[in-house]
Amino acid sequence: MAVPKRKTSPSRRGMRRSHDALKVEAHHECSNCGELKRPHNLCNHCGHYNGREVIAVGL
Ligand SMILES: [Zn+2]
Repeated sequence: MAVPKRKTSPSRRGMRRSHDALKVEAHHECSNCGELKRPHNLCNHCGHYNGREVIAVGL
């Protein structure tokens, strides 16, 4: 079995992990109700997309 010749230094380990952080999920205000929604998705709060109601939500 292949075995690493040297212990990974804290610096190397940190360099490897520099890309591991989670990015903030994309979001934008709904133009109908102002709630945050994901771009190119219909709004979970009011069910609108592109200025019209696509699905009825709640009530
Ligand atoms: Zn909305």
